[in-house]
Amino acid sequence: MRFSKLRLNGFKSFVDPTELVIADGLTGVVGPNGCGKSNLLEALRWVMGENRAKSMRGSGMEDVIFAGASSRPARNFAEVSLHIDNSERLAPAGFNDLDTLEIIRRITRDAGSAYKTNGKDVRARDVQMLFADASTGAHSPALVRQGQISELINARPKARRRILEEAAGISGLYQRRHEAELK
Ligand code: ATP
Ligand code: MG
Repeated sequence: MRFSKLRLNGFKSFVDPTELVIADGLTGVVGPNGCGKSNLLEALRWVMGENRAKSMRGSGMEDVIFAGASSRPARNFAEVSLHIDNSERLAPAGFNDLDTLEIIRRITRDAGSAYKTNGKDVRARDVQMLFADASTGAHSPALVRQGQISELINARPKARRRILEEAAGISGLYQRRHEAELK
């Protein structure tokens, strides 16, 4: 699966709709401190189903909504949309019928998050599983946060094992087994 476009609206510092086209090859994002580079990567993790506010550098998930600035009022919602090039039909079954797979996550103040894939309402779990089965997602070892390398070096063996399981693409299986055990 290849990410082809990321669109942000009201997400953190990206108050106006902003589109990042992800072309073939390497994409670099450069800019001065505080311009929103890390926010972009967080938007990518968030739309894939990240549910830990702390890893979005907030205390609650609504902290991803544009909080206002001296000249702009705060927003009531944040939305991120991710386009995936599915022309090779590599998306998991159930998400595989179109050339582009679009995933949208929107959070509204006091109403929580809602997800859509290709315009259809889905659950957070559906989106998380879609990415887990494709060996990627919000916790993918391919997404390295600022400061994460030193965290990894100091990690306990159990936490390192989770990283290896995600790299091996079996974390979706573990999640399903865990859910089956709870039933
Ligand atoms: P550095 O080079 O220091 O790593 P960066 O380009 O990664 O910087 P970010 O951390 O992505 O910068 O952006 C931080 C900016 O985003 C800060 O100015 C912060 O005020 C702003 N920001 C974060 N959350 C919100 C929010 N909910 N509403 C408005 N602005 C926000
Ligand atoms: Mg940063």
